[in-house]
This record gives sequence, structure tokens and C-alpha cells, in this order.
Amino acid sequence: MSSGRQTSHAADPGPPSGAKDLLLLACCAPCSGEPLRAMGHDGLRPVVYFYNPNIHPRAEYERRRDDVERYCRKLGVKFVEGPYDPERWFERTAGMEDEPERGRRCEECFALRLAHAAEFAGRQGLGVLACTLGISRWKDLEQVDAAGLAAASGVEGVQYWPRNWRKAGGAQRMYEIARAEFFYMQDHCGCVFSKAEHRDGAAGEGRPLSARE
Ligand code: SF4
Repeated sequence: MSSGRQTSHAADPGPPSGAKDLLLLACCAPCSGEPLRAMGHDGLRPVVYFYNPNIHPRAEYERRRDDVERYCRKLGVKFVEGPYDPERWFERTAGMEDEPERGRRCEECFALRLAHAAEFAGRQGLGVLACTLGISRWKDLEQVDAAGLAAASGVEGVQYWPRNWRKAGGAQRMYEIARAEFFYMQDHCGCVFSKAEHRDGAAGEGRPLSARE
């Protein structure tokens, strides 16, 4: 796996139990570039799992999936696509359509995707689960990590790694890698409600960006 630009992450203790093999739940290519670079640098062997029933419509889902898959191929990283079951996502978030980004709907969205990914990791014999969902400062990292820890606690043999990919310049490198790789840069998080929120100019309105750098 190619590691790209070399940067130290000495402050991070690394995956639980010193594991090298892990499952990385990936939401899109721009959010995956920096975690994959850092993992390559640290000698980790991620399997990238694309389970994102929150992305609508299907054409948008496929566009993001194709970019992640293409980048994994380039890096020599295993890519696995999960089921695309948006009906399950809509059921889970019913009644939360008007929630703002970083509200209750996002909590349920993270919980659904991470629980599914944790189960998949368990079936694959991968003892560590990480995700790209919190690298953007538009996301609430506490929400993401709470969902990841809860998800892993429900699957024997799987631990969640609450790695903050924004640290040590990660948030900036995320954009540099996305530009260098010509990733598709979407203008909204993924669901139809986030698209409407973006269109109305209300995304993140009245809410501070996530403080954890
Ligand atoms: S805004 Fe993003 S994280 Fe929140 S519910 Fe929609 S797709 Fe999920």
C-alpha cells in the first residue's frame, strides 16, 4: 500500500491491542484519503467497507462508491461494498426529517452504519473497527465515536478505534489529497435531507463546527 506524504502520528496510540488488520468504514473518497494515507504510513492493513444507505439517490451513491473503489485499487487496499438498502435507513430515521445536521438523525445514521460495519468486521475476523465519518469538521466527532463504541460493544471480538483523523494536520491534508486525486467533491453530506438543508443554505446554521481538532 502506498503511503503518500510521510507524517508522524506519534501521539496516537494506534489501534486497540496493537492490531494491524482492521475494517475501515468509508463514507466517500475525500474523507477516506487522509485515513488511508495515515494507515499506510503506520503499516496498517485496512479493509475498506462501503456501507452507506444514507446516500441518495442511487446515482450519487454510485458516484461516491466508484471513487472510493478506484482509490483503493490504486493503493492496493481491499475494497468491499455492503448492501445498498436505503429503505432501512429511511425506516430508522423516520420522523427526523427536519432535524438539522449534527442532530438526532445523524446519531441514528451513524449508529445504523457502524452497527452494520461492526457485524461485518466480526464475521470477517477483523478485531478493530475504524471509520472516516468524523474527519469533516461539519460532523460531530463525539456523536460518531459514541456510535462506534456502542456498535463494537455489541459484537464479540470487535473493538472500535476512536482515531481523530483531523489531528496533526489531517484536516488540511484531507483537502490536499482530494484535490491531488481529483476526487468527486459532493456539496452535501449524503441524505436527501442534508441536500435540502444545503440547498436552503441552512446546513450547520446556529451550530458551532465540531471543536475537537
Ligand atoms: S446529514 Fe449526513 S450524517 Fe446526518 S443523517 Fe444525513 S447522511 Fe447521515
